[in-house]
Amino acid sequence: MLESIFARLDELYPELVAFRRDLHMYPELSFQEEKTPQKIADYLGALKLEVRTAVGGRGVVGLLRGGKPGKTVALRADFDALPIQDEKDVPYKSRIPGVMHACGHDLHTAALLGVAKALSENKDQLAGNVVFIHQFAEETIPGGAKFMIEDCCLDGVDVIYGAHVASDLPVGKVSVKEGYMMAAGDSFEIEIQGKGAHGATPHLSVDPLVTGSQLVINLQHIVSRRVDPLKPAVVTVGTLESGKGYNVIPHSAKMTGTVRTFDADVRDLIEESIGQIAKATCEGAGATVRYEYRRGYPAVWNHPEETRRVETLAAKLVGADSVETMAPVMGMEDFAYYLQKVPGTFFWIGGRNPEIEAIYPHHHPKFDVDERAMLLIGRLFVSAVVDYLGEGREGFVVGE
Ligand code: MN
Repeated sequence: MLESIFARLDELYPELVAFRRDLHMYPELSFQEEKTPQKIADYLGALKLEVRTAVGGRGVVGLLRGGKPGKTVALRADFDALPIQDEKDVPYKSRIPGVMHACGHDLHTAALLGVAKALSENKDQLAGNVVFIHQFAEETIPGGAKFMIEDCCLDGVDVIYGAHVASDLPVGKVSVKEGYMMAAGDSFEIEIQGKGAHGATPHLSVDPLVTGSQLVINLQHIVSRRVDPLKPAVVTVGTLESGKGYNVIPHSAKMTGTVRTFDADVRDLIEESIGQIAKATCEGAGATVRYEYRRGYPAVWNHPEETRRVETLAAKLVGADSVETMAPVMGMEDFAYYLQKVPGTFFWIGGRNPEIEAIYPHHHPKFDVDERAMLLIGRLFVSAVVDYLGEGREGFVVGE
């Protein structure tokens, strides 16, 4: 059965390319998706799947019931775009000024629709169900995953798989990582209230700019002196704004930054440490401080058993030499929320191809990937579904 489904995916390839390019030409920003979910719902509806729209806001979920009872596998693709001006010179360049699919979510979506079509045509042979999760707003915190889960998209689901195309991995390759794969990403804001004065009378001021500068330095001690050196962590101050005139000591200063961690304890420690150090630094200078820490996505933790399953299946598809184990990255993904609820794994599929200029990093104005990555995503998703549903029961798939 696998071979015939793969052949069907190959046959659907031009249709998937067309669907992907349509999404690419008409991208929609996170939390503003309207036409994209409609197109997805139309496609899934035509396959006679049980389709729910507006899931958690703008998500679309399709349920495929197999011909025999069994477990339920969820597959997820995201569909939002980014506030970036498309600078590629291709016929399917974005038609929407300042908005672009610069992370490959258009391709994830088309690939998953292909899987839905190929599997729905073979549903009588499936012992179990498949839930197709088309998620909105992955790029912008708080992300769509959380809301879709709250709206029951994982109800009855036993396992979940997700794939992301990677522009730094050659097309045809797969990369997996057991355990922590992507970081938790948080943000913080600190406002320092001092006392302004003439630049020539510093003794009459409480200078928030000097205090803010000290604070930037003091925050560097968190990663270097407080966090276990064997546990990865980033504390980055991205902005420090204060003052308007060269001879004026300002009243206040404001800084913002991001924190990336894997370990939950390290995350708590850093949240607490920033507050403590901000308070001590500002109070020491006679200034007052307001501190706000906002949690973003948790870390992506891939379940070992499911990661090994995908690794083994990928090796069958592309050969063991083309399956890599990646190092974790400090980027983030709201797929993490699904993995907190059910076992599963998130993996990278190569999309890099210098021959077609698919060489730019994610979120770059010239980002593009080799569309054949969709076929590998499709094959691997189908393999995972068939393998998982067939586990422990011989002949779960009838027919060939
Ligand atoms: Mn992405």
